[in-house]
Amino acid sequence: MAGNDTLRILPFGGLGEIGMNMTLFGVGDDWFIVDAGVQFCDPWMIGADVSLPDLGLLAEYRDRIKAIVITHGHEDHIGALDHVSLVCPVPVYAPSFACELLRLKEAEFGAVSSPDLHEVAPGDKIRVGPMSIEFIRVTHSIPDCLGLAIRTPAGLVVHSGDFRMDPDPLDGDRMDTAKFKELGDEGVRLLMSDSTNALVTGRIRPESVVGDEVGKAIANAPGRVIVALFASNVHRIQRIADAAISAGKRVALLGRSLHIYQKAARRSGQGGEIPALVDESRLKQVTGEDLLVICTGSQAEGRSVLSRASRGEHPNLRIGEGDLVVMSSKIIPGNERPIHRMINNITRLGARVLTEKTARIHGSGHARQDELRELIELVRPQTFMPIHGEYAFLQAHADLASLSGVDDARVIENGQVLDVTKDNAVVSNSIDLNNRFVDGPVVGDASELRLSQRRRIGWTGVVAATLRLTKKRGNRRVTVDVRTIGFPIQADDMLDAAADHASEEVMGLPDNASVQVIEETLTRALRSFFKRRLERKPVVVTFVDAPGG
Ligand SMILES: [Zn+2]
Repeated sequence: MAGNDTLRILPFGGLGEIGMNMTLFGVGDDWFIVDAGVQFCDPWMIGADVSLPDLGLLAEYRDRIKAIVITHGHEDHIGALDHVSLVCPVPVYAPSFACELLRLKEAEFGAVSSPDLHEVAPGDKIRVGPMSIEFIRVTHSIPDCLGLAIRTPAGLVVHSGDFRMDPDPLDGDRMDTAKFKELGDEGVRLLMSDSTNALVTGRIRPESVVGDEVGKAIANAPGRVIVALFASNVHRIQRIADAAISAGKRVALLGRSLHIYQKAARRSGQGGEIPALVDESRLKQVTGEDLLVICTGSQAEGRSVLSRASRGEHPNLRIGEGDLVVMSSKIIPGNERPIHRMINNITRLGARVLTEKTARIHGSGHARQDELRELIELVRPQTFMPIHGEYAFLQAHADLASLSGVDDARVIENGQVLDVTKDNAVVSNSIDLNNRFVDGPVVGDASELRLSQRRRIGWTGVVAATLRLTKKRGNRRVTVDVRTIGFPIQADDMLDAAADHASEEVMGLPDNASVQVIEETLTRALRSFFKRRLERKPVVVTFVDAPGG
């Protein structure tokens, strides 16, 4: 075990990937967790909706963990909290907006545990053993975001959380750059900073500019306007609603998650008050030019409001001639195809579409290179460790730190344990992580959820075969019946030939062959038959009915 002047840092997620942010910090037997996020699985991950951090490894730390700290309310920071709290039932310290969100989501969707929530605000401090954690205001794309100043026996660690440096945030609550400079003056042992936009030059577009641009588009639109964005972007939603109201329009919010985030905003004093909202069921009673619809679905998620409306499947929202659709969000890499398909469908319905590519209607929540350098230069750390991002983003951010004069800038990956002392920082261990996945009510690792088998079934289809073995006057008879699922219709003609081939193989076995050997022979025969004829190795399920078997 490391000495009592060594800080140990163990990232469970968020390094080398976007999402599932969670890191453990510990000195001796006193540990705490920063963030507990999920990652949304790619559509090809058949059988898994989201992935969770390695809860098995976490259980090994259970007795040492004293607290969980949450930086802000995005799903990739809070989405796994109920699972993490189930393993480690310790106090959770989170900003007010995130607390309200967690309570509302638990009430609406249920949770595997009820985390013990404690609200914290900028300037608050908590203690964990020989460490203290102070909360600092940062700006991002969801209300009420915090960075951390962690004082440890190894020195001061600054954690940026997710941030951008918006000089003119809509809620007027600026990032506390003076505090970061003050910490720099105090002397920072280690800076851990958000790398999401480390490959993008310049600075992000201020939110006020985005608000003005969307406001102009709304004011100039001859007909109905539909704005799609992330429900978590509460302040932008408020700004857009205000612009619509001053252009003489009424506002409707469509999508369950929008209402949850708005409610969390009201409860935590972060806005969310939109006057005279139009109820969804009354949309048809408001003439087009008097209406602004704010909805979810900017990533073309299949069941979202905009996606359903684009296919003509939404009960209350019909997109038509003269409508303007404003996609006020980033096109997240990987979602391009479904988004473009949705835009084509909307255009086909006669509406005009504005995207971040064609108008200044979106600004990222994550600092770009100039802002990242500004933070590094304010904090002036001895060691720099990029967090939150794919590997190339982390490396680019480490390079930026080196250019800004940090001598020790290094990329650490998930599962690598970094031991930090006053004058040294070394990777002391590398642990193979075994992430968990959620499939409806079931949680398990990849092998427990049989993810690779389910993917294989998707690619190859399934063959089910029943073999009946009978004996007539001492002569063996084999009958095989073969059926398939997920095979091309052209394969139907081959089923008899497949059955004949399998029968012959089984007939070639000695008379005393066991049921197990018969089953294996049947499986092998069918697999090789379809490999030869269709160039696929299907999943084969066999049933053998043998006398005495
Ligand atoms: Zn975030």
